[in-house]
Amino acid sequence: MANKDFPLIFERSKEGRVSYSLPELDVPEVDLSEEFSDEYIRQTPPELPELSELELMRHYTALSTRNFGVDSGFYPLGSCTMKYNPKINEDIARLPGFSHIHPYQHPKTVQGALEMMYDMQQHLKEITGMYEISLQPAAGAHGEWSGLMMIRAFHEANGDFKRTKVIVPDSAHGTNPASATVAGFESVTVKSNENGLVDLDDLKRVVGEDTAALMLTNPNTLGLFETEILEMKKIVHEAGGRLYYDGANLNAIMGYARPGDMGFDVVHLNLHKTFSGPHGGGGPGSGPIGVTKELEPFLPKPVIVKNEDGYTFDYDRPQSIGRVKPYYGNFSIYLRAYTYIRTLGAEGLKKVSEYAVMNANYVMRKLESVYELPYKQHCKHEFVLSGKKQKKLGVRTLDIAKRLLDYEYHPPTIYFPLNVEEAMMIEPPETETKETLDGFIDTMLTIADEVENNPEIVQEAPHTTVVKRLDETLAARKPVLRYIKED
Ligand SMILES: *Cc1c(COP(=O)(O)O)cnc(C)c1O
Repeated sequence: MANKDFPLIFERSKEGRVSYSLPELDVPEVDLSEEFSDEYIRQTPPELPELSELELMRHYTALSTRNFGVDSGFYPLGSCTMKYNPKINEDIARLPGFSHIHPYQHPKTVQGALEMMYDMQQHLKEITGMYEISLQPAAGAHGEWSGLMMIRAFHEANGDFKRTKVIVPDSAHGTNPASATVAGFESVTVKSNENGLVDLDDLKRVVGEDTAALMLTNPNTLGLFETEILEMKKIVHEAGGRLYYDGANLNAIMGYARPGDMGFDVVHLNLHKTFSGPHGGGGPGSGPIGVTKELEPFLPKPVIVKNEDGYTFDYDRPQSIGRVKPYYGNFSIYLRAYTYIRTLGAEGLKKVSEYAVMNANYVMRKLESVYELPYKQHCKHEFVLSGKKQKKLGVRTLDIAKRLLDYEYHPPTIYFPLNVEEAMMIEPPETETKETLDGFIDTMLTIADEVENNPEIVQEAPHTTVVKRLDETLAARKPVLRYIKED
């Protein structure tokens, strides 16, 4: 826990105190007024706190302990999968041969980097069952947009301009309809049935000559496998549409099922979800896309090719949707994901899926007697509970999430997916021990008990954190991001 009376460094400032010592200037001082006009030159020095080195260190160290991360505790956030950032990934990403290269270097001088990317594509082809891969997109949502632009280019190349709609299930992640809109399509919702899966009758109703694509996550955001996927593929393909696979949940099925074999035409992966790239805290993501042979000509360019001279970029791609990300994309994330894939191997990746599914089912079955479980079948890597019973007692899902903070757990994803009332989306990843899972289960049961016997303690949570309950709307709309001096 961070220092409670954590004084703002601005208030600890004492004039003349410094935390650095610099050698004397041994070059001529620059006269700024010769370089810049007056309006660009500060007239008064900035008001910065003046502190000793030790105080400055303590400030940043205290700040760092205010963060919650995978290295500090259990993190059952749903729809995020990976919560494991192996330290060896960082060693590999830091190798000077990778970290010191420049994106403008001639391909001949960066053969190792290109080979890694090329080989990474081969691995992702194998894992997804797709014909070709582009590593370019920067995140899942960017992969969605890129994939939909390719589907649009494909239809237009066939002289088919009437396909203006993208079908998205009501349980979909918000990025799906958003990407469809940004790619110039209208998004149409298909309903879920009582089992939490796409309702085939409703799909037949909304599909038609204007369908460009169906976007689907499988397992879906309820953590349920869409068992009718081959039937859906038939319906959409017969209507002339294409199938888009949102790969955010791929870590539930690796080594067991491949989107390519399920009939998907375009796939995105989230290397920061399935393949151990750090995520959260603003780390860059990476959202490679995979396609069938039919869609390959439309891939973003350049593509990496291997010929007798080694590896190089091919820009001669007349049907390409163009470049979607500068330089090599988020190269250092590929390195981390590549390290992860090579470290685990095929058998290891399969085990990841097994453990993810086992852990989720274990926690789900332990909690279903106390929290309502709307969909009773086995789940994949995550599951969704409803806080309906607790709501009747005056305690909302938000309160339960806040109460978890007091017990030093990161809360699950809440109020998503939208088709479950008072949703709590729990994803206990594959890397957690049974003891950790049991600790979380006990805490969830304790909170359910508190809801019945001492609801105020839950309603008023958190009690132990540095910052108590925020006005979330105000915090989002009018964030106070810097120190404001009170006179
Ligand atoms: C996270 C997620 C996305 C978006 O991916 P980003 O990498 O965050 O852009 C899309 N769909 C699902 C189901 C997700 O969980």
